[in-house]
Amino acid sequence: MEKIDTVVIGAGAIGLAIAHELSKTNPDLVVVEKEKSFGRHTSSRNSEVIHAGHYYDTGSLKARLCVEGNDMLYDFLERHSLPHQKTGKIIVATSEDELKILDDYIQRGTANGCKGFELLTQEEVNTLEPQAKCIAGLHIPSTGIFDTHLFMEKLADLVEEQGAFIVYDNDLIEIEKLSAGYILRFANGEAYQCCTLINSGGLWADQIAGLAGIDIDSLGIRQYWCKGQYYKSTKISGIKRLIYPVADPKGIFLGIHLTINLAGEIRFGPNAFYVDAIDYRFDESYFEEFYSSVNRYLEVIREELVPDDCGIRPKLQGPQDGFRDFYISEESCNGCPNLINLIGMESPGLTAALAIAKYVKTLLNNR
Ligand SMILES: Cc1cc2nc3c(=O)[nH]c(=O)nc-3n(C[C@H](O)[C@H](O)[C@H](O)COP(=O)(O)OP(=O)(O)OC[C@H]3O[C@@H](n4cnc5c(N)ncnc54)[C@H](O)[C@@H]3O)c2cc1C
Repeated sequence: MEKIDTVVIGAGAIGLAIAHELSKTNPDLVVVEKEKSFGRHTSSRNSEVIHAGHYYDTGSLKARLCVEGNDMLYDFLERHSLPHQKTGKIIVATSEDELKILDDYIQRGTANGCKGFELLTQEEVNTLEPQAKCIAGLHIPSTGIFDTHLFMEKLADLVEEQGAFIVYDNDLIEIEKLSAGYILRFANGEAYQCCTLINSGGLWADQIAGLAGIDIDSLGIRQYWCKGQYYKSTKISGIKRLIYPVADPKGIFLGIHLTINLAGEIRFGPNAFYVDAIDYRFDESYFEEFYSSVNRYLEVIREELVPDDCGIRPKLQGPQDGFRDFYISEESCNGCPNLINLIGMESPGLTAALAIAKYVKTLLNNR
């Protein structure tokens, strides 16, 4: 059986970022992925937005790693000449009640370390974005967009250049805990022995933790799956910044917003509904929700909205729950030393990926 120092399960953006960070100093590392390529799940089914960090509770991992990750991601993209654009974003208030929410974002954003927030009057919003319907807006300059596929491709290349390996088509089905380390068994009959195991299995990360003997229910880390769909429009033009409504008051999602991709195409979404299967087929029964949400901040006609893509969030927050943070834990205290679980890695996981990787390295160094 092959013996490897560190195995990372999952070649999504977060698993690859961790592998990239750890293999800088220890290339005796393998990333194992059940699909035929990297990023076949959540990391390529999302808004591709580099978030600022004002949505998350102050002091939480989501807030800290998003703010740090925002800077790290722009640095990385520039250093490697990867396509991105610091578009900025405007959160629009469309009623008096929502003005207070913009103030809350400024307070929380400032406490979280975000910079450059600017409250705008309706006229100022319309100078920047003439098509936006609102009574006021909040301009967030550090928000941007990037190409997640090229980001992951670069991470995968760097992992291999640093001497580590990525193995595809290898589905982890069993974890045996040894007195020191783990034996990992895969659906194709292969097995590896490792000292350190990083579980970055995205939508399945809680199930993988369960394979290692972690009691996910008593720790409250069983994931919910929450789907989000997008509609696109090829008719709208002239919008330069991302436009968001204020977020859903329960904090389950950010509200059906307008994003622009690097090709200048306009998308609306994602919405949010809990599901019990990983099924990426598009459900058109949510059309009215999209149409009415978008029309609160932008004039669109029905025929302009065309079904696009969808993704599924691995969430710790259930439909009735409040804010839940990322769960990133070295599991010695739960009987699994040298296992790091990353669970509930929903948004802002892409923005935070490089900062998450640094945080995981610190957890390992502090063992
Ligand atoms: C609709 C939507 C919009 C989003 N928008 C944004 C955004 O704009 N900005 C932002 O910062 N974040 C956003 N996010 C969040 C972001 O996409 C995720 O946080 C991030 O992609 C998670 O990366 P990951 O590597 O943890 O998961 P994944 O990309 O899902 O990777 C996990 C990998 O593990 C593999 N795997 C699982 N089980 C096994 C196994 N048993 N054996 C081997 N391999 C296994 C899977 O095949 C998968 O490739 C969004 C998410 C969604 C769903």
